[in-house]
Amino acid sequence: MVTTHNLGFPRVGARRELKFAQEAFWKGQITEDELQITGAGLRRRHWHSQQRLSRVPVGDFSFYDQVLDMSFTLGNLPERLNDTEGSELDRYFRVARGRSGHESACCGVQAGEMTKWFDTNYHYIVPEFHQNTRFQLKADRLIEQITEARAQGLAPKPVIIGPVTYLWLGKTKDEHDRLSLLESLLPVYSKLLDVLAAHGVDWVQVDEPALVTDLDADWRHAFSLAYHHLKTSAPKLLVTTYFGELRENLQLACELPVAGLHLDAISAPQEVARVVDWLPPHKQLSLGIINGRNIWRTDLEKTLDWLEPVHEKLGGRLWLAPSCSLLHVPVDLSSEEKLDPEIRNWMAFATQKLDELNTLATALNHGRAAVQKSLVESTVAINSQKTSERVHNASVQARLKDVRPALGQRQSPYPDRIAIQQQKLGLPRFPTTTIGSFPQTRDIRQTRLQFHKGELTEADYNARIREHVRHCITEQEALGLDVLVHGEAERNDMVEYFGEQLDGYAFSQFGWVQSYGSRCVKPPILFGDISRPKAMTVEWTRYAQSLTEKPLKGMLTGPVTILNWSFVRDDQSRQESCLQLALAIREEVLDLEASGVRIIQIDEAALREGLPLRQSDWKSYLDWAIDAFRIAANGVRDETQIHTHMCYSEFNDIIEAIARMDADVITIETSRSDMELLDAFRGFQYPNDIGPGVYDIHSPNIPDSEQIRSLMIKAAERIPVERLWVNPDCGLKTRQWEEVRPALRSMVAAARELRESIQ
Ligand code: GLN
Ligand code: ZN
Repeated sequence: MVTTHNLGFPRVGARRELKFAQEAFWKGQITEDELQITGAGLRRRHWHSQQRLSRVPVGDFSFYDQVLDMSFTLGNLPERLNDTEGSELDRYFRVARGRSGHESACCGVQAGEMTKWFDTNYHYIVPEFHQNTRFQLKADRLIEQITEARAQGLAPKPVIIGPVTYLWLGKTKDEHDRLSLLESLLPVYSKLLDVLAAHGVDWVQVDEPALVTDLDADWRHAFSLAYHHLKTSAPKLLVTTYFGELRENLQLACELPVAGLHLDAISAPQEVARVVDWLPPHKQLSLGIINGRNIWRTDLEKTLDWLEPVHEKLGGRLWLAPSCSLLHVPVDLSSEEKLDPEIRNWMAFATQKLDELNTLATALNHGRAAVQKSLVESTVAINSQKTSERVHNASVQARLKDVRPALGQRQSPYPDRIAIQQQKLGLPRFPTTTIGSFPQTRDIRQTRLQFHKGELTEADYNARIREHVRHCITEQEALGLDVLVHGEAERNDMVEYFGEQLDGYAFSQFGWVQSYGSRCVKPPILFGDISRPKAMTVEWTRYAQSLTEKPLKGMLTGPVTILNWSFVRDDQSRQESCLQLALAIREEVLDLEASGVRIIQIDEAALREGLPLRQSDWKSYLDWAIDAFRIAANGVRDETQIHTHMCYSEFNDIIEAIARMDADVITIETSRSDMELLDAFRGFQYPNDIGPGVYDIHSPNIPDSEQIRSLMIKAAERIPVERLWVNPDCGLKTRQWEEVRPALRSMVAAARELRESIQ
């Protein structure tokens, strides 16, 4: 018999119950007991949805983050927590977010750093290490949840993060090498396994996704060392890898002295055969055969075609699971009532994915005939998606065939066109501008919400948004900014806004995915060939331009960012989808230009996020991603100025690609790095204009003009002054007008002083 299991279930709840409970607790509206009751209720419900599996994951539920949970299990807490009071959960939230909530600001500590979980959009709390880090086991949370699952009549399989990946995910606060902590960490893991064994646990899932990354000899050695130390027969260890291919770590993974290995057969299909061959005969092999990162149905018959021979070889040694934890997909498709039924039928959320898993296991155990109905259903859905006119658009396909590199080439090189632009735009030196959005006031949100609910007619809605735009222009003129924006009042989200207007996109009602803590995102679903039925931003931009003599900057989201923040098609490459998006954005760029807009900004906030896990794959990603941007942006005449914006602060390793975008102006986040970030641009001799951020918009602090001036002087030491712009780090939508006004006033004043003082 094939064993079925799951690596992890989404924990926010189908209606984001966890989010609302967390936030209520932080505001002091519910007690810790009430929060715990919500948590237990969600665990119960989620195990219930998984009850047909041979084993259910335990320990995957978290009140904030599973890596932080592991830090608590290992007793690795930052020292700054030592003097703080309160319950264990209070201490936990203090590391997670700086304070527990129902307490005053007095008890706050510095929150732990947060960073992206591999190449997903989930963010974890980075474990902190230093030379004297000592670990101490605290297993009660895990043990309690094992008891809970058993009480539901289920076989629990505790999930922990493996010792090597745990160290790999963390950071040392001193110069110390964190690998040297392995020796003191391993006894705590041994103890944990002993405790689990004492509680009758037979299998433990040990997550080691670091195995799919580039590892040097020391890290590879750490794997052998760790698992030789943890060699145990009670409980048995299933080492799980996911998110990518094992490549040069494949043999290492197969040879670890553990009882089982999980391989992500969705992202590493070509490694299945080798692992089947190499895995010693006493080991179990778990194959991740359902995509845990996307929302499409699995082609069950096609999967069985390759899986049946594997099953024949492995028999009872074969386990089946989703490719990775289902944390990265929404909970349940059955709550979606507004999705087009045809498109909805192509999808599977977490609950449906587990049904697919059961169907596949039953087919292997009892033959395909036993699940005939489900197989037929799956095949019908897959075929409908393959052939649907909603997915395939002949005219988009035809246009793709015509794409030539010349489409991404500006008419003239930057030095020639910048001279023309300067002459046409007549901007002063150190021109001042903003990144696009202005404060999204309650009134603005209300306007959009009422329209969305049908409480406002389109005409009334448009009139109200026009008022917001007019207000935004008046404010910018009063501030004396040089290049104005319309303020983005009509946009809820920089990707969703465009997705909603493009053919080929669908939107769920409850398709929430946890991004970090209580924050969830609802990624738009790119399901078909992308086309743009009509102009998306021209009306608002033209209206805004009509209100001012100053140049107005049109505002678009770039193809790479739209792609990276969506659920995407899996019947074609990301590269192809990106190119389709690029062609649609290109049309918008050209329409904006034709309507008289002289400056167009194309945001690529998520370009860096799409970088593959392996450095050797970076080039190919950057090649097609930058090509897509160039195609979107570079069809304009010389006198049209293209801006792009990026809101992160690591450029060193991708500066060449950034330069290849050939945007006339790039605005970036730099204020916190004290302009040191610009060293990358100087070192590379980045050729075009740069607007280094001088106002940290993530903080409520308001910079004075002296602070801004001194930042700009530092910038001028690195970049020729004639190529410098003055702007905030990012959009202003999360700030209040009361903060934005004085901050921008300082910015404009600083630019004026610079014009006087720097010749
Ligand atoms: N134009 C967008 C804004 O100002 C850019 C947001 C971003 O970079 N994340 O809001
Ligand atoms: Zn930004």
